[in-house]
Formats: sequence, C-alpha cells, structure tokens
Amino acid sequence: SLGELIEETPFRFRIPRHGRMRVPGVVFASRALLPEAAGDKALEQVVNVATLPGIVRASYAMPDVHWGYGFPIGGVAATDVEAGGVVSPGGVGFDISCGVRLLAADLDGVALAPHLTAVMDDLDVAIPRGFRHGGIWPVPRGVLHEILAGGAVYAVGRGHGVARDLERCEDGGAVAGAGPGLVSDRALERGLGQVGSLGSGNHFLELQTVAEVYDEHAAAVFGLRHGQVCVMIHCGSRGLGHQVCGDYVRMMEAAMTRYGIEVPDRQLACAPVESRPGREYLAAMAAATNYARANRQLLTEAVRRIFDSHTGSRLDLVYDVSHNLAALETHEIDGRPRRLCVHRKGATRALPPGHPDLPADLAPVGQPTLIPGTMGTASYVLTGVAPGHAFHSTCHGAGRVWSRHAAVRQISGRALQSELEQHHIAVRGASWKGLAEEAPAAYKDITAVIAASEGAGLCRKVARLVPIGVVKG
Ligand code: 5GP
Ligand code: MN
Ligand code: MN
Repeated sequence: SLGELIEETPFRFRIPRHGRMRVPGVVFASRALLPEAAGDKALEQVVNVATLPGIVRASYAMPDVHWGYGFPIGGVAATDVEAGGVVSPGGVGFDISCGVRLLAADLDGVALAPHLTAVMDDLDVAIPRGFRHGGIWPVPRGVLHEILAGGAVYAVGRGHGVARDLERCEDGGAVAGAGPGLVSDRALERGLGQVGSLGSGNHFLELQTVAEVYDEHAAAVFGLRHGQVCVMIHCGSRGLGHQVCGDYVRMMEAAMTRYGIEVPDRQLACAPVESRPGREYLAAMAAATNYARANRQLLTEAVRRIFDSHTGSRLDLVYDVSHNLAALETHEIDGRPRRLCVHRKGATRALPPGHPDLPADLAPVGQPTLIPGTMGTASYVLTGVAPGHAFHSTCHGAGRVWSRHAAVRQISGRALQSELEQHHIAVRGASWKGLAEEAPAAYKDITAVIAASEGAGLCRKVARLVPIGVVKG
C-alpha cells in the first residue's frame, strides 16, 4: 500500500519506510501535480521499487511520473553494486535508451518560413515511422553487430555525421561493455530493417523555434539564441530494444529464486548486477543503447540533407541524452564513494556545472538536458544544478494523464491536426490514431512539470522551444 505521503517542501514529498521498503520514497512534484500521480498507481510502484535488494537513499519519482511496467515512468532508483544491488530490465523500460536529441540551425524562424512546407513534405517522405517498415540505413548482420558495439561512433566513422556530433552525445556516442553476442537472434532480426527510423506515436521529429531564453550565457554555450530554428528528435532502440527487454525479463523471472530475491510485483524481475544474468543484461542493454544512439545519428543526417537542400543552412548538435537507461556510476553515499547501478526510466540525467563527465566547453554551465512537452505546447532545454538530487536526474517530459486508449476515445486525430495547423504547427502524421494518442490534452502541463522540477532543485531552465512542424511516429 501507499502509506503516508508527507509534504516536506512545496516540491518534495516523502513516503516513509513501511512494510518491506528498504528506503523511503521521495516524490518530486507540486500539490497540483500530485493527484494525477496518485490516481494511476504510480506512487505504489515507487513503494514497490523501494523494496529492491541493494537500493540506496530513496526510490525517487520525478514530477512527470506515471504508471509503467513494474517501475513507474519518471522513476529513479540506484543500487549498490558491491552490496548485492540488483539491475532490473523494468527499471530501464522496453524502449532501451529512448532519448532526445536537439539540433540547432544557423537559421531563424522567419528565414525558414517560406521553405517550411517543402521541408516538411521532404521529411514526411524521408523519415521512416509508424507501421511503415524500413530504416534509412539498410544494413547486413555484420554491420548491425558493429552498430551494437559502436553506436553513433560507428555511424559517424562510416560517414553518417561529423566528429563534433560525438562530443555532444552522452557517453561520446557509444557506451562501453556492449555485448552484441548477448542479443537474441529475434532481437537482431527485428533491428535489422529499422536503423534510422522513428517508431510509433510518442516518437517524433519536430521543428521548433526558441521562444524564450532564461539564461543567455548557458544558451550561448549550448549554441541557442532567441528566434532560432531547432530540430528535436525523440526515438529509441525500436524492436531490437523491445525484444532485449522482454528476453531478459523472462530470463530474470526464472533466475530470481536462485539469488533468493523476492519482489512484490513480477514486473520488477531483477538479478544482482554482479551475477551472470545481471552482467548479461547490462551488456545486451548497452548494445541496444548503441543501436538507439546510431538510430538518432542516422535521422540527424537525413534532416541535415533536407535542410541543406532547401535553405543551405547547417544543423549543429546541441546534445543527445537518453531517458531510459541503467548506468554504472560512482556517487557518494554516507560520505563514501560507491559504485551504483542508477536506473533512470523516463528520467533524464542532468549533470551539474563542473561534473567530470562533461566536455570542457560545457563544464562551466552543465549538461544540456532536453525535455519534450507536447506537439501543441512547448519543450524545454534545462541544465543540471549542484548538488543534484536523485543522482543528477530530472523529468523527461510532460508525462501522461490519459492512457493511449483513453486519448483515442476522447480525441479525433483529424480535428487535432486542423487545430494544430490553425496554430501554425505543420503536421505530418503516420496515422490518425497515433496523432490522437499523443494529443496535448493527454499530457500534464509541461510548464508546471518544469516549474516543479526547478523548484525541487533538480535542474534550471535555459530555454523554451515552441513547435512549428511535427513529423509524428
Ligand atoms: P515517452 O518517452 O515517455 O514516450 O515520451 C516523453 C515525452 O515526450 C512525453 O512525456 C511527452 O511530454 C513528450 N511528447 C510526446 N509526443 C510529443 C510531440 O509530438 N512533441 C513534443 N514536443 N513532445 C512530445
Ligand atoms: Mn522516450
Ligand atoms: Mn521510446
């Protein structure tokens, strides 16, 4: 059960330890955002996660938290690797390394306007998505293995991008320790034809303009200025990542008793990080992560070609960051540096200024942290802050209030498209249903979510972006 919920500050609530919880639950939200979170059982999932072996400090929820598979979406949980800490595929999610990439054009909205329709029409044709099969880069199996090992680094090495792109990717564009050999044949098969594709409805490629800058200095360091055109890409590891997650959930369900692990929900299936299933999952997850990074790199190149042909303008990478990932990181716990497995599921890493993992030019301002809102409202660029609660994490989006099913019942895709077009937002959807599922009304108020994230001390606002054209999965 949920137990008590204590308001500690206007943006931080605590669920004290009870039952089999090993740590408390900490929910970053405002009162106004809370009832929605409580309504969909997400907070009970926060309590369940708090029972996992080796969990340290707290089971966290971000202001955009909502119900997910086992773990809530908008959840952060870290386990102590040397104290039997576990890794759980449900704590990463089915779309491994789903994330956001932001490109900044050397072009203003006013200069793009006469070309917008032509650019959108070309993107509509060039960006594989929805139920249409295929990807931008059809690769044979041998090349797929290279992608799983080398991510965006491999893609750039093959000519799909420039070296600077990699400096602006989390982990330099590829995570170490990938085990392509631990990815099942079925997963490989699903991944083969999808390198360079968006996927379904929640994924998108959006043209935006910078509507407001809150921190001129940080924005300048990120390469952003008022009025500028940006392209935001949200997608992940497609069928390959989905299959990896399913494969390892099943494997861990079967292996749990061997390690004496009991969980309150089967969807929390897990294994010690330092066990064979734990190590194998992390290696397969790393391979799927690299696939997602290469995927976003290929989509970037497709957009660059189209922008270049219509406007002659360049697109520079601002940053690429995942919001579904488990990462081995060192954090101080009780005054001692500990090796932790940090699960961020629907949560974005937000490194503060001076963090050693930042490239030198970003170090003075912190990590660009990319938060999509909705296709009808706004999206945000944030940066990390010290001390950085929840292991340097913040929200990942507005967060759903309606299930996809409920959204389709209440919203007409056609009506939504004409409403968006009336607001000068060009729409190129893959299906009416996909469009309705992602209606702005299906999500929380992104501005409230960002205010709560900032109020809770998780991040700081740098810029607000508004949509001018959306290519929907
Ligand atoms: P998720 O990874 O959980 O599927 O989605 C992340 C976030 O993307 C959602 O919480 C939502 O706020 C946002 N989002 C979904 N569709 C769109 C879109 O078309 N445009 C923008 N800017 N954001 C979107
Ligand atoms: Mn996502
Ligand atoms: Mn995704």
